[in-house]
Amino acid sequence: MNIFPVNHPLLKRFDRWAGPALAALGVGMLLLETTRPLRRRTRPRPERWRRNVLLAGPSLPAMRLTLLPAMVGLARLAAPRRMAELAARLPQAPRLVLEVLLLDYLAYTWHRLLHSPALWRLHRVHHSDLDMDLTTAWRFHFGEMLASIPYRAGLPALLGVRPATALGYEAVFEAFTAFQHANWRLPIALERWLAPWLMTPRLHGIHHSVVQRETDSNFGVVLMLWDALHRTRRFDVPQQSITIGVPAYPDPAGQTVGRLLTLPLEPLCPWARPDGSVPAPHSASLPLGELAE
Ligand SMILES: [Zn+2]
Repeated sequence: MNIFPVNHPLLKRFDRWAGPALAALGVGMLLLETTRPLRRRTRPRPERWRRNVLLAGPSLPAMRLTLLPAMVGLARLAAPRRMAELAARLPQAPRLVLEVLLLDYLAYTWHRLLHSPALWRLHRVHHSDLDMDLTTAWRFHFGEMLASIPYRAGLPALLGVRPATALGYEAVFEAFTAFQHANWRLPIALERWLAPWLMTPRLHGIHHSVVQRETDSNFGVVLMLWDALHRTRRFDVPQQSITIGVPAYPDPAGQTVGRLLTLPLEPLCPWARPDGSVPAPHSASLPLGELAE
């Protein structure tokens, strides 16, 4: 049986609807982060954009040709299993809610796994960007995309998530990935209202900090519920005090596309700058639960 049915009607529908919607969202985010930037840039945009777009070159086709079709192909393999049979007995509305919650929880736990030593080799390519903006959302090593297939397509299929729900959630996942990486200054009142519930640009900015304790927070993709439950939620770091990146890779000249593509083969580094110093955590100055500006 074909586990990568790249021309399946569900995928054609994804291309027809999600493709243009995500492209339009990308253009909107680009305009917003250009006119209302959140953090000061440390590097010229063309320098980073060229690298990020070249890295997205293999990653986005890898997603369309492997991860997305696997969400359909693996569901067909898993369909007769007991969990899938149980899921099929649920009424439509509660089943959809449970499927979406499960997919979002798997996205959270997968992101935490990406920060474990074995997968950090791949995920550090994304985190080593020295500024964060819309293009960071696409700066993934294609190996990270391939490694995610068993967890992000296989597990939901085994647990009885329907492929249409998995692909629909994937469109939302991609939209939130673009939104949270955009260097867009939302009005603080609006973001304070959103932040307890949804992953926002300021919250994800904290996750991209060079301070380890801050990187080890705000792992969610859509809902903040999982960070709240696992106590990994962090609100109290002002954006202007954040240095974006991974302390071991502060040198822009060392971030060529070739180096970034082979970075997963390099040994893991301690969480410190090349001179051995460790970025100091910011002292919390805000009442707990208040999103810093
Ligand atoms: Zn991360």
